[in-house]
Amino acid sequence: MTDAASASAVPVSDAGTEPTDAAPSTFAELTTIRTGGRPRLLLAAETEDELVATVQDVWASGEEWLLLGGGSNTVAADTEFDGTVVRVLTRGVSVEHSADRVILRVQAGEPWDALVAHTVAQGWSGIEALSGIPGSTGAAPVQNIGAYGQELANSLVAIDFLDYESGERRRIPAAELELGYRTSLLKHGLRGLVVAVELELWDTAAEASVLGGALSRPLAFPQLADALGVHLGDRVPLADVRETVLRLRAAKGMLLDPDDTDATSAGSFFTNPIVSLSFSRTLPESAPRWPLNDPELPDRVIPLDDYYGIGPVPGATLVVPLVKLSAAWLIEHAGISRGFRLPGSRAAVSSKHTLALTNTGGASGEEVAQLARFVQQRVQAEFGVILQPEPVLVGLGL
Ligand SMILES: Cc1cc2nc3c(=O)[nH]c(=O)nc-3n(C[C@H](O)[C@H](O)[C@H](O)COP(=O)(O)OP(=O)(O)OC[C@H]3O[C@@H](n4cnc5c(N)ncnc54)[C@H](O)[C@@H]3O)c2cc1C
Repeated sequence: MTDAASASAVPVSDAGTEPTDAAPSTFAELTTIRTGGRPRLLLAAETEDELVATVQDVWASGEEWLLLGGGSNTVAADTEFDGTVVRVLTRGVSVEHSADRVILRVQAGEPWDALVAHTVAQGWSGIEALSGIPGSTGAAPVQNIGAYGQELANSLVAIDFLDYESGERRRIPAAELELGYRTSLLKHGLRGLVVAVELELWDTAAEASVLGGALSRPLAFPQLADALGVHLGDRVPLADVRETVLRLRAAKGMLLDPDDTDATSAGSFFTNPIVSLSFSRTLPESAPRWPLNDPELPDRVIPLDDYYGIGPVPGATLVVPLVKLSAAWLIEHAGISRGFRLPGSRAAVSSKHTLALTNTGGASGEEVAQLARFVQQRVQAEFGVILQPEPVLVGLGL
């Protein structure tokens, strides 16, 4: 790791190139849920320049294309992908110190969890609760990864972006990425390559000498605070947060582990639905829900000269109070229990967490999609809510 003055980027992970004879060639080998056929062409790039040039060449060819990091949010069909897949394998992090903050510029291919481990070891706080999320740093802004009370949006400053439409390379500030709950402009509309990601974290070095160690950001997730035996808003040693999050995730099958078939998944398969407050009142009282915006609209006084009581109030913004529901609760209360599978299928609901769909061994992408459709239909029939998939589906539809 270096200071910014030298601007050199040092890898924080040792994941390098696979030996040629073991090089993966199918989506089943390239994704964590292990489904999917062969792309017509598979390329990989390990340096920033190589990545940009490769992607530009692929775009110039006019072929169908897909970028792939760790394949942990991608579920592919078993038919051939008629296009080019570019694996993003770039590595390196450069660091700039500024007062009590550090700015990191992270290459897109740097494995996310290796980055988190590194920042925790350095005493930099801000992403410790995002420990154990698989995949690459470049994919992290795509769905604004989040867990245990933190999300990427809290630390993201900007991305270095190569735009597919214009061909232009530019720095896009986080504020322009429309980052929201498991979404961003990159997931809905803005197509291109995230070359690198800029993060701002807290450097706890100065306070560590006073407080006796590097502390986390204030805890914002009740289950995490409980597991640590502290209160919401408390700050605890950074390493304890990482260790506890990893333990909680392992218990839910949400940590990549070759020995745990529940982890042969794409993480949560469905996002928590966001519905209007009035719709949420049609659900059973026991259905968990969290308010997303303030339902209280401020009173406004409108001069009579400006408004005659017909049509919308001038200048008013309509705020529909929204609430987030628990997809796991909806699934369980639609009669689908952990471990559920359709007859003869090799895809199953995780035995530890109803939100994850897993490949119990040799499942096809279509088997996963069938199970997903069944879950969707059950929840829709019971509660009138259509669950939306979180992963990117390649050649599959729900
Ligand atoms: C066990 C498990 C647990 C998980 N837990 C969580 C969690 O707690 N929270 C959470 O938010 N997610 C979670 N996920 C989902 C996943 O890990 C994240 O979405 C992660 O950011 C995906 O990274 P990836 O590199 O594997 O993406 P990939 O699957 O390789 O790609 C996902 C999408 O991003 C695009 N993409 C990849 N790289 C780039 C790039 N450089 N530029 C532009 N587009 C790119 C791809 O084209 C694709 O559309 C989990 C997944 C698993 C398997």
